[in-house]
Order: sequence, then C-alpha cells, then structure tokens
Amino acid sequence: MTTNGEAPVILWFRRDLRLADNPALSHAQASGRPIVPIYILDEGSAVRPMGGASRWWLDKSLRALSASIAGRGGRLILRRGDSEAVLRHLIEQTGATCVLMNRLFEPDAWASDADVAHALQAEGVEVKGFNGALLARPGSVLNGSGGPYKVFTPFMKALRAQAEAPPPLPAPDDLSGAPGVGSDDLDDWGLHPTRPDWSRGFPDEPGEAGAVATLARFLSGGLTTYAVDRDRPDRPGTSRLSPALHFGEISPWRIWTAAYDAASSGKVPAAQADKLTSELIWRDFSAHLLHHFPTLPDKAFRPEYDAMDWRNDDAGFEAWTRGRTGYPIVDAGMRELWTTGIMHNRVRMIVASFLIKHLLIDWRRGEAWFWDTLVDADLAQNSQNWQWVAGSGADASPWFRIFNPITQGQKFDPDGRYVKRWVPELAKVPASLVHAPWTAPHEVLRDAGVSLGKTYPRPLVDHAEARARALAALKAIRSDGEAYPDD
Ligand code: FAD
Repeated sequence: MTTNGEAPVILWFRRDLRLADNPALSHAQASGRPIVPIYILDEGSAVRPMGGASRWWLDKSLRALSASIAGRGGRLILRRGDSEAVLRHLIEQTGATCVLMNRLFEPDAWASDADVAHALQAEGVEVKGFNGALLARPGSVLNGSGGPYKVFTPFMKALRAQAEAPPPLPAPDDLSGAPGVGSDDLDDWGLHPTRPDWSRGFPDEPGEAGAVATLARFLSGGLTTYAVDRDRPDRPGTSRLSPALHFGEISPWRIWTAAYDAASSGKVPAAQADKLTSELIWRDFSAHLLHHFPTLPDKAFRPEYDAMDWRNDDAGFEAWTRGRTGYPIVDAGMRELWTTGIMHNRVRMIVASFLIKHLLIDWRRGEAWFWDTLVDADLAQNSQNWQWVAGSGADASPWFRIFNPITQGQKFDPDGRYVKRWVPELAKVPASLVHAPWTAPHEVLRDAGVSLGKTYPRPLVDHAEARARALAALKAIRSDGEAYPDD
C-alpha cells in the first residue's frame, strides 16, 4: 500500500531524534520514496531499561520530533513492543522494502539490531545502518596493532588526525506522501511521571530546536571562557548539551563545526574550541570503549578492583542520594540532580569520589542511581566516568586521588553560591566557612540559623579517617603498584 506507487522507506528513529544532520533520513530522502518515520518503545529487549529521568526527556523529545514532522506534512508513527515484530507489521501495512536507521553502538543494542536486520534481510527487506551519534564509528579509530585505544590522549590524536566534518545535512522541507497507518498515543506510554510529578524543576528545552538554541546561547557566551569556567558549578560555563547529544537531537559534528567556525571568525580563541571538542572526543572515547569492552557497566575494567571489599552501607547510600552527607558540595550536587535531572561535571566527580572512596560503596550503586536520575544518562558515558573516578577504568584517575570535598568546594565554588543555591539551609553561613560548616564558631552558626545535626547534618564521615580507610582498602587489593601498559 503506497500513495504514489513507490514502495516506501521506513525510517526507524532511535537516539537520533532530529531532522537535520540525520544520515539515515538523508539517505531516505535521496531515495525519492515516501518516508514512514517510526519510533519504537521496545522495553522487552535485552537493552537496559531507561531510567525515570530519561523517560521524561524522551517524552518531550518525541513530542518535539512529532511536531516537526507534522509541520512538514508527515506523521511520526509511535509503536510499543518488540522491535522486529513492530517493523514486520509496519512492513506488511505499508509495503515498505527498506528500513534505514542510525545505529546504536552499545553492545546489547548493537547485537539485537543486527538480529533484526538479518531477519528482515532474509525476507528481502533492505536494512541499512548509519552513524549519526558519534564523531567516529567505533572500530574506525584503532591503534598501531589494530586494537582499540585504552588511553585517551592517543585516541584523541588519532581521531583528530582522521577527523573530517561531514557536510551539513539540512532538514527536509517535505515529509508528506507516506501511507497512513495507525500510531500509539504518546500519552498512553506514561513516560511523564505522575503521582508524584517530580519533574517540575527539569529543563524545558528537550527537542531539536531546543538543542540548536542551547548551542547558539553557548556559542555567544560560555564558549569564550569554557576552558576555565567548565570547572565552576557556580557559573553557567558549560554547554548543557549532553542530554541533547544522548538523544541525538543534535549531532556532535554540528557542535564541533560551530565551535571551530566561532574560532575562525575570531569570536572565541581557538584554544576554547579545542577544549570543547576534546570533551566531545571523550564522549566518543567512552562509546568506543564500551563497544569494544561490553562488560564496562558491570565489571571493573582493571579486574583486581572487583576484589575491593565494598561496605554494605544502606544508610550511607541513602544519605548520599538525598543530599544529606553533611558535606555541602556533595549535598548540593545530589540535590541539583534530584531537582533538575542534571549535575555539573566537576560535582559529578566529587560526589562519585565521595561515594566510592569516603563511603567505600561500590561504584555500581552510584552508577545505577545516576542512570535513573540523570536526563543525560548514557550507558557508555556513565559507566566509563564512574570507573574513571573509581580508578578501575581504562584511562582512569588513580585510586589514591581522593577528592577532598572541602577544598574542592573552596576552589570551584569559592563564594559558596552553588552550595547556597542547592542547600538553602546554609544560605547565611559566610562563604569562607560554608564548605565546612562544622568548623564554624558556634555564634556564627547560630547567627546563620544553622543547628548541626538538626537543620543540617553533621559530616557522615571524617575526611581524614575516610581517606585513610580508602587507601588501606586499595592497598589490600594492590600490593605491587604496577603500572599498566599504555597504547
Ligand atoms: P560540556 O562541558 O559543555 O561538554 C560538551 C559535551 O562533551 C557534553 O555535552 C558531553 O557530551 C561531552 N562531555 C563533557 N564532559 C565529558 C566527560 N567527562 N565524559 C564524556 N563526555 C563528556 N555524561 C553523559 O552524557 N551521560 C552520563 O550518564 C554521564 N555520567 C557521568 C558520571 C560521572 C560520575 C561523571 C564524573 C561524569 C558523567 N558524565 C556523563 C560526563 C559529564 O559530566 C557530562 O557529559 C557533562 O556534565 C555534561 O554537561 P555539558 O553538556 O554542559 O558539558
């Protein structure tokens, strides 16, 4: 069944929820055939189920995509169920002979997509996958022996040496002409939380237009001072594009090109563009690592770290999740996360280090909490970064680097603005004491309306004792101090 006699092409949207710079869409368009766009909510597959905050973002992003497609005379079909079964049904309904998609590179999704593709190809349906998510396709940046890089800097150099920005692909003007078939109603998917709706403080710009606007704002502001301000949670110094990148509302190449265009027109120093693009390369590095080392979310990359004698401390874990550890910068970060679905990168490192090293709680518990609460939760980024902090990752921060939550706060939030925003019970504590309120004289706390242990918790652990305990735990698993071979 087609409207103009030509068999349509199915465009299977995954995490590429955009119309511009979308290689699969561009190929569909080039075919000249009617395009049937579909998004499948496949919750039964082997892939790790999405967390609550991600479901919230997906809901808004699908609404935005649906409206953009409708504005071009098309309709985004929404279906829920097993991907292969849904695609088969859609093929039957539309007479489509081709399925195009931008690939997901996480190992489980990669494998299950390959199964779907083989099954459909066996019945004569053409299936093609593209890379719309990463700067470089996993497997295309390899070391001299043909293996994956395990260290970032040589990976970055290799990627930069071969990097070539693809030409921009404008969004099509017209997506009409596809056969009409039924779609689910997005409201029935229940992606938006109710009872309670905890999303009131969440950002309001999911979707492709929001991502483009966020990028434009960043280019005309934050990028100028990015290399320094990216470490300052008290300043709007980063792009905040990570959820848009995760859901594919914008392509990493578009950000890359925009940053270097800004540099070549003299609007920002080239070093700032280099710093931003090196962060995009970190994103690729994590994705490539996960693609090559599928156990990254579950197992320590350096296996001896799985011998760590983690503490089974439910009360400590709960205090951490609720932002009640008594360390203001940790509590501010955890509350920012709960309220907005986002946490600043510097603070992510501090809170993760606190959980793993101060509380000696398994990094996997923290990773799972982030997975559920971050709007940018991403299997590769989250597991690679947690393992980086734990010291167990491929190119990781050494275990003996234990972030001091007091001095980190003083250095990166010197006026206490970030802490006071998220921990309002400390708003009146002088900035010089706000990162360690237990050191403040009694009268200062009294005048600030703080009663430790009542209005704000006392520190859950003593920093020096916790540090010594963490180092002893490390010593127990690593007697040799041996360095790891680098690529
Ligand atoms: P910017 O500073 O503007 O950077 C631009 C882009 O570069 C980001 O959008 C992001 O895609 C990429 N990037 C920046 N820093 C990193 C990094 N350290 N690793 C990989 N990519 C980076 N990021 C996620 O996208 N999803 C996660 O689930 C995630 N979990 C994390 C867990 C921990 C424990 C830590 C320490 C970091 C985690 N990050 C994760 C990385 C980083 O914190 C976020 O990407 C960053 O905070 C996003 O803010 P931004 O978009 O303003 O970044």
